[in-house]
Amino acid sequence: MHYPDLAAYDYLPEEHFTDREPPFGDVSFRPAYARLAVGWLAAGRPYPVGPVPAALTRRLAVIGAVQRVNLCLGYHECDLCPPGQRPPEGNGELRVPGAPGVAYAAPVLIGHYVTGHGYRPPPEFVAAVLAVDVDAWSRSRWPELPFPWIPADAKYWDWTVE
Ligand SMILES: [Zn+2]
Repeated sequence: MHYPDLAAYDYLPEEHFTDREPPFGDVSFRPAYARLAVGWLAAGRPYPVGPVPAALTRRLAVIGAVQRVNLCLGYHECDLCPPGQRPPEGNGELRVPGAPGVAYAAPVLIGHYVTGHGYRPPPEFVAAVLAVDVDAWSRSRWPELPFPWIPADAKYWDWTVE
């Protein structure tokens, strides 16, 4: 799947966040925020390259470790890696809050695109990632999710056996 950077993300109408530890609760909702696509790179499509702050890749790795968004899409391999090299896989997406009412929607492979392929995301996305309180997100535990804009009417599915 390919989106130009900052195009409207419209692949799935609902958002699905999954707990990152067993027993894997799940929450779904229709987002009240707009979703802007970032980092949906594909072979044969040009993308911007250039230097990025070192903190960007570290923070993308943390966010990718604590958020599990829209996992139902299955694994996606990097198709920019040359043939014969075993490309990394990524399952799911990231959500990074931007300006009020706007969240950036990126594939989890975006960190690999930056480090492995020189991809330079849009500056507003870089600023949004650097603004994330990754320490607080890392400490959050279900049903508190590492993303601030989960609506009150979201549907929670908790697999915990009492
Ligand atoms: Zn690659």
